[in-house]
Amino acid sequence: MSTLINPTTGVELDHSPASATLVEADAAIARAHDAFPAWRDVAPGERARLLRAFAAIVDAHLEELAQLEVLNAGHTIGNARWEAGNVRDCLNYYSAAPERLFGRQIPVAGGTDVTFHEPLGVVGIIVPWNFPMPIAAWGFAPALAAGNTVVLKPAELTPLTAIRIGELAVEAGLPEGVLTIVPGKGSVVGERFVTHPLVRKVCFTGSTGVGKKIMAGCADQVKRVTLELGGKSANIVFADTDVAAAAASAPSAVFDNAGQDCCARSRILVQRSAYDEFVGRLETAVRAFRVIDPADEQSEMGPMVSAGQRDAVQAYLDTATVAFTGSAPDGPGWWLPPTVVETTDTRDAIWQEEVFGPVVAVMAFDDEDEAITLANDSDYGLSGSIFTSDVGRALRVARRVEAGNLSVNSHSSVRYWTPFGGYKQSGLGRELGPDAPNAFTEEKNVFIAH
Ligand code: NAP
Ligand code: MG
Repeated sequence: MSTLINPTTGVELDHSPASATLVEADAAIARAHDAFPAWRDVAPGERARLLRAFAAIVDAHLEELAQLEVLNAGHTIGNARWEAGNVRDCLNYYSAAPERLFGRQIPVAGGTDVTFHEPLGVVGIIVPWNFPMPIAAWGFAPALAAGNTVVLKPAELTPLTAIRIGELAVEAGLPEGVLTIVPGKGSVVGERFVTHPLVRKVCFTGSTGVGKKIMAGCADQVKRVTLELGGKSANIVFADTDVAAAAASAPSAVFDNAGQDCCARSRILVQRSAYDEFVGRLETAVRAFRVIDPADEQSEMGPMVSAGQRDAVQAYLDTATVAFTGSAPDGPGWWLPPTVVETTDTRDAIWQEEVFGPVVAVMAFDDEDEAITLANDSDYGLSGSIFTSDVGRALRVARRVEAGNLSVNSHSSVRYWTPFGGYKQSGLGRELGPDAPNAFTEEKNVFIAH
């Protein structure tokens, strides 16, 4: 593994885990396969108890996990605590699933027909660097609850919390091989999850380009696949809303996690009659946004995860006309200020492409139809927000925006108990919510003649 660097300071961390080789990845998959029959056959109530024990031990190590994420990924301490808590909450939520993995009894002539949700076997989860803890848990918690065993590859840049969570799973009493963390390269470990015949499903979160390759690779074995990919989500502000409130909430909706969020509201559409007021208030809010040491409790935004990601975002800014920025520390570390770009051309790269950094593009629109057309003028369709005081308009627009996760008069983040996923090139399938365990099962139908 390449050496890990603290993004806040640019200083190397003391310990970098070794990258798994292909042979080691195969061995981890074989162990997960060996552990599967016994895990599948654990009584539902006992599997539930083990997942609750896992949740409790994550909770007992919440501060340690959070501090590790501040160090490795530069997340603000407030976010990192929420992220570790989200792992605990996902485990507790899906710990209720084993006893509720219901089939159906369907009326038929001449017998009885019943269905079963049976686990798939080994599930491979490939995690990006932007939310290392939550995205791991969104995969492993429902997969384990449904009786699968899991191999999980964290991003090369951010493996530390996943490795620690894997240790905590064993401490909680999960049998060896049920949840195995396999740090390593995407091109080695990640690709092996796709090509290895004993991995029966791949859950991938990351870039759309890699996601397409994974989907194509999975086709070879008709392997089940869930994709959570990029986004270019619109925050639509109608003039009939509380413009001050909409402007005050817009920065955190895009600059949280330094904009490295697939749900970032990175396009703001503002109705023309409110445009000047909104942009004026947005400037005040952006200048007040606290971009400081992420270990500081007051921090609202830390550094970019890596020099490479910072440079990729900077390349967009080099060709854009920046309206105004907030502040960022000088000196070492991978810092960028929150940045606002006003645009009138929907062909601009900054309007079309997922920048994945603290950059937002603002554009004016005239009426509801134009707002919807502009919002949908994207290959992506992950999330979005609608600010209006007209409940009819809120529902009309929410029904017409092509995106999986919308919020009205808020920028709600992902909730573990509601479904999450993308339209169009933002993904395939849904994670979280009450149905997630079923996505890690095959539905089997059995007819019994009387
Ligand atoms: P990425 O390349 O898609 O990486 C995501 C995960 O996939 C990482 O664990 C990566 O491993 C692994 N991977 C890479 N190539 C693979 C392959 N051929 N087969 C299997 N697994 C593979 O994303 P990135 O390069 O880190 O980020 C690039 C862009 O992706 C970002 O700028 C952003 O636009 C987007 N992104 C979106 C999300 C999201 O939440 N939707 C998250 C992260 C990034 P390595 O770490 O070893 O490369
Ligand atoms: Mg990559």
